[in-house]
Amino acid sequence: MASLLTPTRRAALLTLGAGLAAPALVRAQGFRTDPFSLGVASGDPAPDGFVLWTRLAPEPLEPHGGMTLRPVTVSWEIGSDETLRTVVQKGDAIARPELGHAVHVEVAGLQPDRPYWYRFNVGPERSQIGRARTTPAVGAPARQLRFAVAGCQAYTDGLFTAYGHLAQEPELAFVYHYGDYIYEGRDNPTRWDWSRRRTQPVVRRHMGQECYTLEDYRRRYALYKTDVDLRNAHAAAPFIASWDDHEIDNNWASALDQDGTPPEVFAFRKAAAMQAWYEHMPVRAAQRPRGDSLQLHRRLAWGDLLSAHLLDTRQYRTNQPCGDGVKTGCPGQDDPAATLTGAAQERWLFDGLSSSRARWNLLAQQVMVMPLDRRTEPEATEPVWNLDSWSGYRASRKRLVDHITGRKLRNVVIATGDEHQHYAGEVRTRGAEGDLAAVEFVSTSISSGGDGVNIRPGWDRVLAANPFLKLVNDQRGYTVHEVTPDAWRADLKVMDRVSTPGGALASRARFAVAPDGRGLQTA
Ligand code: FE
Ligand code: CA
Repeated sequence: MASLLTPTRRAALLTLGAGLAAPALVRAQGFRTDPFSLGVASGDPAPDGFVLWTRLAPEPLEPHGGMTLRPVTVSWEIGSDETLRTVVQKGDAIARPELGHAVHVEVAGLQPDRPYWYRFNVGPERSQIGRARTTPAVGAPARQLRFAVAGCQAYTDGLFTAYGHLAQEPELAFVYHYGDYIYEGRDNPTRWDWSRRRTQPVVRRHMGQECYTLEDYRRRYALYKTDVDLRNAHAAAPFIASWDDHEIDNNWASALDQDGTPPEVFAFRKAAAMQAWYEHMPVRAAQRPRGDSLQLHRRLAWGDLLSAHLLDTRQYRTNQPCGDGVKTGCPGQDDPAATLTGAAQERWLFDGLSSSRARWNLLAQQVMVMPLDRRTEPEATEPVWNLDSWSGYRASRKRLVDHITGRKLRNVVIATGDEHQHYAGEVRTRGAEGDLAAVEFVSTSISSGGDGVNIRPGWDRVLAANPFLKLVNDQRGYTVHEVTPDAWRADLKVMDRVSTPGGALASRARFAVAPDGRGLQTA
């Protein structure tokens, strides 16, 4: 690993090592090192406020983050300018050992549709200053919205340089995070590389075994948050956090893990993972876990321009059919009882879509909706499906598509993650035929999958065989969406590399959608 001392890693090591290197320097409140080593964050913006987050961890990878197990008062302040010269609100919060000394402040009473800046203080220690933003008033005319979509950030697979670029994006209203914020797997010196079809050495090492306990998950989040690019992204814009599978266990489905563990036993691991997720995300008390359940699905609005329906496609789904995997299908794909959302969330979504008066509806969710046949071999005679995606739950997808087309909604855009590739395409009632239900943008990954290539071997065949698909790309990056009343523009951004520092960002493709049912256009 010595040869992989990238600036990011060096910064992380400096942060981690500082406490060991300078034992003589004991700060006034007992912190020998920066208690804000995990940074700050804001989240879930509303017209009058947002959530502010931090977690005290002077020694982030040590048990309890190096904190003594007692409550600590943390003060916060919000300013109307980026240096906090004019403080418009301030208060105290208590960082408690029960929640790993995490702090969630739900701020209200601010002005709509404007940026704010914030900072935490504990004793003489000050955090970095973060930028947050309120949304326009409910139903107020909104002319423009610019937001990013990011996720899938395996620490092992690459540097988070893409987050460094995201932090520099002008005027981001928020970042939708589609999950895989951490990966739960054990430390492993190698990983599988899809674009090269061989094992590769990892770029950075996980620590310890697979995550099972609260302390394991806490330390994994802390390891990820020692990355300065990730911290800068959080400081730059509010996040709207969700999860996918790796926050808990690969391809988990409601009460089931992938190893056949009895549900009543897996429940303990879920509860630990959900608590750690809550402790590290800038979310409201409504997203506090209750045992092994947590209400993740929720709605956010941007004036009259956008209604965002944030889905949870893990917690209420039926088990993957055909034994899961990416392979040829089986009759279980068409099980009418199969559901990806669960009945209650599906009703909530359909009610929300039916009653939405917003110009655009965003389904912010995790796994691909498009019915993609993934055959890459010329001799393959049977379609190949990702059975963990909506293609494993066709009855569920048909209900969604029928609801959208039945209501004649022409303003639905889907933002997806999970795939570690960029995809842009259309969801129609019959493959590439039939009525348009939605345009889907699958965002690639921040780091998962490593450097990648423009197109994986055999995927030109996938493009040709699935005419509803307009683009596929296997590089790392994120997506930026610019929304106005007349057009939705998506910019699919890619990194030239993530294995070494200094990776450059470029626009791989730009697309446009109009709310008229004409579908996806290149822009
Ligand atoms: Fe992922
Ligand atoms: Ca995933």
